[in-house]
Amino acid sequence: MTSMYKVSTIGRRKFLVGGATALAAASSLNAINVRANESSVRIVIVGSGAAGISLANRLSRALKNAKIIIVDRKETHYYWPGLTLVATGAWPKSKVLDRNSRFLPSQVDWVKEMVINFNPEVNRVETDTGRQIEYDYLIVASGVEYNYRSIEGLDIEAFGQNGLASVYHSPDVAALSWNAIKQYSQTGGDAIFTLPSTPVRCAGVPLQMAFLTIDRLKQNGGFGQANLNFYSANQNVFGLPWFNQFILDRFKEDGMQVGLETELSAVDIGARKASFKKADGQIFTQDYDLLHVVPPMRAPSSVRYSDLAWQEGNMRGWLAVDKDTLQHVKYSNVFGCGDVNGTSRGKTAATVKMSVPIVVENLLAVIANEEPTASFNGYTSCPLLTKFGAAMLIEFDYNGTLVSTFPFIDPYKESWLGWVMKEQLLKPTYLQMLKGNV
Ligand SMILES: Cc1cc2nc3c(=O)[nH]c(=O)nc-3n(C[C@H](O)[C@H](O)[C@H](O)COP(=O)(O)OP(=O)(O)OC[C@H]3O[C@@H](n4cnc5c(N)ncnc54)[C@H](O)[C@@H]3O)c2cc1C
Repeated sequence: MTSMYKVSTIGRRKFLVGGATALAAASSLNAINVRANESSVRIVIVGSGAAGISLANRLSRALKNAKIIIVDRKETHYYWPGLTLVATGAWPKSKVLDRNSRFLPSQVDWVKEMVINFNPEVNRVETDTGRQIEYDYLIVASGVEYNYRSIEGLDIEAFGQNGLASVYHSPDVAALSWNAIKQYSQTGGDAIFTLPSTPVRCAGVPLQMAFLTIDRLKQNGGFGQANLNFYSANQNVFGLPWFNQFILDRFKEDGMQVGLETELSAVDIGARKASFKKADGQIFTQDYDLLHVVPPMRAPSSVRYSDLAWQEGNMRGWLAVDKDTLQHVKYSNVFGCGDVNGTSRGKTAATVKMSVPIVVENLLAVIANEEPTASFNGYTSCPLLTKFGAAMLIEFDYNGTLVSTFPFIDPYKESWLGWVMKEQLLKPTYLQMLKGNV
């Protein structure tokens, strides 16, 4: 079935009303709000994850007359940051599952389909049912795609058995992964943890999985028999040098061998063998009793193959946005938010929380025919869980400069408070973020 939302026209952009004198007295954002409020613009948000829902709530409050459409088939909301706790046996799966309908404002139209084509030249997206949706303004918030298939022999159905684990895929697979990790923590044996060369969501997660597995080994009796290995496809295991060295030192204390510039390339599930490719092209194979796989990640194919993606450079395929304004570099009526953005750092919910207000402010400016001036500093936050009951809270910007929003937590120290932040406080804050309240 092919259907078409009512076609937008340039006439819709005649929305700037209101007395200049009255507006001049207000703050710039309020001024933009007042004028944009009078408009009946059509905004399409692609993706109903953390960024998409938060944007929908804020925009529907800021633009009372706008037509806001969110496109995404997914109805279940995953609280992704909780998956680490599910995969290490600290939380039940039920704690990370919710319904998007609970968070979407009633005045937002929800099209439960997936976008397969972006046509920014004609301000239109096409969904997988053939529906054409026109927009005046577009926000792409479609997250990442996991590329497990690039690892030869890997079968997603096999997670949870034969010592195969991966926290990333979904709550189901995280829970199955806990089965594999629990079993391993009782017996020990050869464990391998991986980190791919692509950008990953929450760069601390692959490390957390290693640290928390070590803690489980110590709790459940397998530590004495454990042979631990961490293979990173990069030249480090974490992007900030001080923390990279801290992690390497802690790994050494626990007997974790670290191999750098070494990427997982193939798995023989039945034989429990993993093959790795080194930077010099050398390939080697190693037996394992536990393999924790972090999949290579990329932008969803609808973005990757579109005119909206960076066409070259190390962010090729990711959404081509200006790192400061988060406005598309070519199409001024398009913005990006969340993991899909081709910016140098920050695929975290913390980045979403800090960047949603920037996108909203800049979009309102563009709607009001003004320059977008709100600037994002690249804030990201990584709770590095070093064992159950202890974590470091590392917050930094595009430049890798530490930017602490919790002055009472020393980022250089493991603390119980850091753990409480992750285990107790992050989820309520996340839910408030979805509602557009923080
Ligand atoms: C295991 C794990 C632990 C994490 N821990 C933390 C943490 O401790 N702290 C932290 O801040 N962050 C953490 N994160 C990262 C955080 O969860 C993400 O950065 C955040 O969820 C990104 O939000 P998003 O809206 O960009 O993507 P998502 O929330 O994934 O939403 C993207 C949405 O887009 C939809 N979509 C995709 N393609 C299309 C399409 N073609 N058409 C329509 N819709 C589409 C998807 O269905 C999805 O609903 C963690 C992530 C994981 C996986």
